[in-house]
Amino acid sequence: MEQSELTGGYIFDIQGFSVHDGPGCRTLIFFKGCPLRCLWCSNPEGIRPYPEPLYKESKCLFDLYCLQACHHQAISVHVGQDNPRIDFEREKCRKCNTYDCVKACLTGALGQGGYFISLTDLYARIERDRLYWGQQGGITLTGGEPFAQPEFAANLLKRCYNALIHTAVETCGEVPWENIEPSLKWLDWIFFDLKHMDEAAHKHLTSSSGHRILENARRLADSFEGRMVFRFPLVPGLNDSDENIRATAGFILSTGRTELNILPVHHLGREKYLLSGQSYKLPGLEMTARDQLITIQNRFTELGVKCYLGSETPF
Ligand code: SF4
Ligand code: SF4
Repeated sequence: MEQSELTGGYIFDIQGFSVHDGPGCRTLIFFKGCPLRCLWCSNPEGIRPYPEPLYKESKCLFDLYCLQACHHQAISVHVGQDNPRIDFEREKCRKCNTYDCVKACLTGALGQGGYFISLTDLYARIERDRLYWGQQGGITLTGGEPFAQPEFAANLLKRCYNALIHTAVETCGEVPWENIEPSLKWLDWIFFDLKHMDEAAHKHLTSSSGHRILENARRLADSFEGRMVFRFPLVPGLNDSDENIRATAGFILSTGRTELNILPVHHLGREKYLLSGQSYKLPGLEMTARDQLITIQNRFTELGVKCYLGSETPF
């Protein structure tokens, strides 16, 4: 067995039949762990780099079987003014490899967010999905941040690429260049997120200044031989000013690439924040109206960027 067969990594979901993240019908693999803390993140269960319990309070009977089952003293009961609830010190779950709490819970109040998967098992799943892709299709690694697990990402991409499977990655770019570079020769497409061009605003929105992201974007645009499409999560009032649109367009064109996919943010991930013990940071956010989206798309086009809107992408 090759060394790469023995490796694997942490993921939190696999979704088949996606038609928005690369050509044809695709299988998306959601990597666990992300270095950014974007205020609008729609996959909060993908942020921590390790598996964790996901807790649905409405299904909890407070019988405390989970507390008795946990060998890491990660669970406590919180009794406040409202109903009691179970609390988790999820940092302690980093050491866990049993998830006994989930096994002990009989009501479905606990689920496991994320799991280790071997390359062999993951590839078997991909091969199964391949039967349904049709003439086009392939895999897209997303997350979380795929390049936060660089060896796993590179090994998986290599195996698929060598099997003539179309490969794509969606990255936030906030990783060392050394994490990205080994995957490049096994990749056909890269989706690269841009969130804001102003350092202070980027820090406020994501917890990072974005400096390394732009540096990686430039290096990728220069050295990557496949298709590179920038992605812009549009957050009304936070990054949709004309000044930022002009700066974003200017940056894209300065790299020599020309394609941008606008992704209007949505509230679909809101419920998942509670499951993973986090608070949703943009509860009052209004969605961008359709005519405003088209105005922004037209503005990017006017500035020389080939701009695709949301899921109306030609791929
Ligand atoms: S995942 Fe493991 S450490 Fe965390 S609460 Fe459950 S049993 Fe305890
Ligand atoms: S075992 Fe399940 S139902 Fe019982 S207290 Fe824990 S989470 Fe709630």
